Amino acid sequence: MNPAKRKHTFMDKFVCKISKNDDDRSTIDQNMSTPTLTSLDTKCEDINQKQANNTHDIGLFLGKSVNNTLKYEMLMSPWNPCSAYNFKADIGVGKRPFLFSWLKQYDWLCYSPILKGAFCKFCVLFEPPVDKGRVQGAFIKTAFIKYKHFQAQLKIHSKCSRHIFSVQSAKEFIAIMDGKKINVHQMLNCSIKNVIESNNRKLHSIISSIIFLGVHGIPLRGKTDDTAIFNNLLHFRVECGDAILNDHFKNSAKNASYMSHRIQNELISTIGSVICNMILKRVNEAECYSLLADETMDIAGIEQLSICLKYVTYENNQAVIKEDFVGFISLEKLDSESISNKIISNLQEWGLDLNKLVGQGYDGASTMAGHVSESLLCRIVAPSLTKLCVTRWSDSHKAIRKYYENFLLIVEALEYLKLNGNKDTSLKATCHLNSVTTSQFIGVNCDLFSANKHIKDLIKYISDDRANNEEMFLILMKDINMYLNELGITLMTPRVSSKQTLRNNPPSSGPEDYYRKFIYIPYLDSLITSLNERFPEDNSKYEIISVHPKYLKQIKKEEFIIQLKFLKLFYGEFIENIEEEGLVWYNMWKENNETNMDFLKLLDEVTFLPSIKKCILIAATLPSTTCSVERSFSSLIRLKTWLRSTVIENRLNGLALMNIYKTYVQIQKSHIIDETIKLFAMEPRCM
Ligand SMILES: [Zn+2]
Repeated sequence: MNPAKRKHTFMDKFVCKISKNDDDRSTIDQNMSTPTLTSLDTKCEDINQKQANNTHDIGLFLGKSVNNTLKYEMLMSPWNPCSAYNFKADIGVGKRPFLFSWLKQYDWLCYSPILKGAFCKFCVLFEPPVDKGRVQGAFIKTAFIKYKHFQAQLKIHSKCSRHIFSVQSAKEFIAIMDGKKINVHQMLNCSIKNVIESNNRKLHSIISSIIFLGVHGIPLRGKTDDTAIFNNLLHFRVECGDAILNDHFKNSAKNASYMSHRIQNELISTIGSVICNMILKRVNEAECYSLLADETMDIAGIEQLSICLKYVTYENNQAVIKEDFVGFISLEKLDSESISNKIISNLQEWGLDLNKLVGQGYDGASTMAGHVSESLLCRIVAPSLTKLCVTRWSDSHKAIRKYYENFLLIVEALEYLKLNGNKDTSLKATCHLNSVTTSQFIGVNCDLFSANKHIKDLIKYISDDRANNEEMFLILMKDINMYLNELGITLMTPRVSSKQTLRNNPPSSGPEDYYRKFIYIPYLDSLITSLNERFPEDNSKYEIISVHPKYLKQIKKEEFIIQLKFLKLFYGEFIENIEEEGLVWYNMWKENNETNMDFLKLLDEVTFLPSIKKCILIAATLPSTTCSVERSFSSLIRLKTWLRSTVIENRLNGLALMNIYKTYVQIQKSHIIDETIKLFAMEPRCM
């Protein structure tokens, strides 16, 4: 080994040892008697260079944000050059150098070999705010090097307000790091948490009141804010001892009372979406669902499409069929394309899987088949003529009977509109004319199989009428003539132009003949066509019901195989294994005589036949009537009255959902309130 190098290593060890012992410079000088002066100088340069590379040098932290751990480390055991450090080399020749012993005397003092000067560790790590524009100079932003006046400057610094501020900050910081004190963030979090909790309690009272009113179908507003039921109810709560609400009324800012109409609407629609989401969650968990839709016009003249979903769910391990209302969609356009687009976009918005949609039921199905719906148009015109109850058939019948009394007047008016109105009015009038002459009702609890059979009979019955139209119309005319006589009106043929290019203009022998040819026959024809379209001969999709053992036993195995093929073709991947499982299923029931069981009871038997299970679920889900949709209209009528005719869509849906799911909402009330607060608080608000 090179002797110089050996000495070098020796010196390093020597220096290190001394520095560890924290001896001051005089001791080193004493001990350094052995090495020559030149070699000592080189050693000092080496030491100085080495020391100038330390990552804990105070000079590196000037004006920088330091992480808490490092800051703590720097405060508790600050790094300083060792006693062997040549402070003389950092300062110009002839100037007084820094003394190592000063570091021991003043705990806040640090020396930076990088910046070649002294600093105050507190002021560097906890930079004091700029005070009255005074420059934060030596010890804080720049190195202190005028060691001639060191003692005087030291006293000045240690007494200045900036230094006192930094020392205080450092003390607090150390206390926090030692766990004796919670930090500002925690303090803030804690106070925020308290604020949130108190706001939640306020909102809880307000939301609970809205739910109370919504569930009972009571209007929230009144003629003025002072008479509004919602406001009165809140004050009633205060009277009953709701201290939080009382405090809120007394202390809340004017822009944060949470009683404005805008907030009401927001809360109602949020509650609505919470309820809706709870239902949609159940629907999404089901294997498949059907869509039921029906339209009605509300009191404000807005066409509302009510959407219900039919699905099978499990309650206490029992399968139950549910038909749940999920919302009203207001329609701007009434053609099939706009309606179906609206429905699809809403289903997607609700996060429903369209692949699971196995059936659709519409009242006025012909609209959705691409034609103008009679029932749809009937409802557009009907309320403006006479109030037609859209939900209760008995009331509806009463209205129609009244209607029938004024039948001819209405017909005349419609005839006039048909001929003289614009294209739209004329179309509506024509359809309305057709729609009021007869009505057919389908029972509530029939399954698709019997419903289909019923329709077949109906088509045959109407076709017979069509064949004997002259005879049938005479019977009808007898009644009409009776009214005509009573009212003293003569039945006239409307004006017929000699040249007619835009519509049918068949010759007629008289008014009776005219109405028969113009209204009666076209009406029967359209009815037969639409029924045939809705229930086509190839009704393989309805034969899904044939998986029920009751029907299964009535057909031969070969027939059943053909039906399975149909089903496979129609539903495809959804029931991919149906042909194989179908045969197992067939054999299973051929020997069994207990076949008259409920559809849902069958679900217990199909654990190992997933495709059959899906068939049963589809069959149970397929809609045969849209009665439950009609039920939602009862709620609509209660909600949108003459007094409240301008309810916006979201508010309407929220109120309708609360009103329709009364019992459910009351059971789930606290959950709904919590969820509503969560959703409501997502927006930034002042409280
Ligand atoms: Zn200081």
